[in-house]
Amino acid sequence: MTVSFEPSQACERLVRVQARIAAAVQQSNRQPGDVHLLAVSKLQATEKIRALYAAGQRAFGENYVQEAVDKIAALGVLPQYTDIEWHLIGPLQSNKTRVVAENFQWVHSVDRLKIAERLSAQRPAHLPRLNICIQVNISGEASKSGCPPDEAIALVKAASQLPQLAIRGLMGMPEPGIGDEATYRQFLMLATLFAEARSAIAPIDTLSIGMSDDLEVAVACGSTMVRVGTALFGARPTP
Ligand SMILES: *Cc1c(COP(=O)(O)O)cnc(C)c1O
Repeated sequence: MTVSFEPSQACERLVRVQARIAAAVQQSNRQPGDVHLLAVSKLQATEKIRALYAAGQRAFGENYVQEAVDKIAALGVLPQYTDIEWHLIGPLQSNKTRVVAENFQWVHSVDRLKIAERLSAQRPAHLPRLNICIQVNISGEASKSGCPPDEAIALVKAASQLPQLAIRGLMGMPEPGIGDEATYRQFLMLATLFAEARSAIAPIDTLSIGMSDDLEVAVACGSTMVRVGTALFGARPTP
């Protein structure tokens, strides 16, 4: 079997995505370095993570807990990968919180207090605090995860009291395929909540919005972390 994702290809894609971010940052008169890139590697082979790592990427996002833990274990035995920062961005059930608290540095998908409490209680004491974002349902679709927008501030406040967590900000996903203008409105709603939470509560610094197709819109709305999969790794294999 050949690996169809050469390091040079990974490097090219990474440079292209970084250039898109840089152009969007400049367009909105923001500072270079304001927007971090999270490489979404869900359903992608570990070889692709290694290729992107070799190109300089360090933060990776995964959706499925078991798949992620397998990858973390596979790469974790190799000393050069110990500086990877692992982010969980997919829905989190309460029976999976322990393994997440033990293996990740970030969770973007906290949408209720019970999950935050479990993550805090189960975070091993020898590790730094677990960074979390509150996921807000900005599309209003009943099928989507995330807390209702009008509960987000209270949830940020409550989570900020938990000893083993570092509350970093908010995460959102727009309804897919609705066009730039409607996407902009949904992102802006989250950016407004972010500003409100930031003034009401301790320093939060992360607005996690923007994916392969809408990262420019997200940066225009104040994104500080874009979560990009397809544009970095190519199409995802079906599970
Ligand atoms: C899959 C996924 C992404 C990346 O989407 P792309 O369109 O492939 O860039 C970002 N965020 C979340 C929460 C995802 O599930």
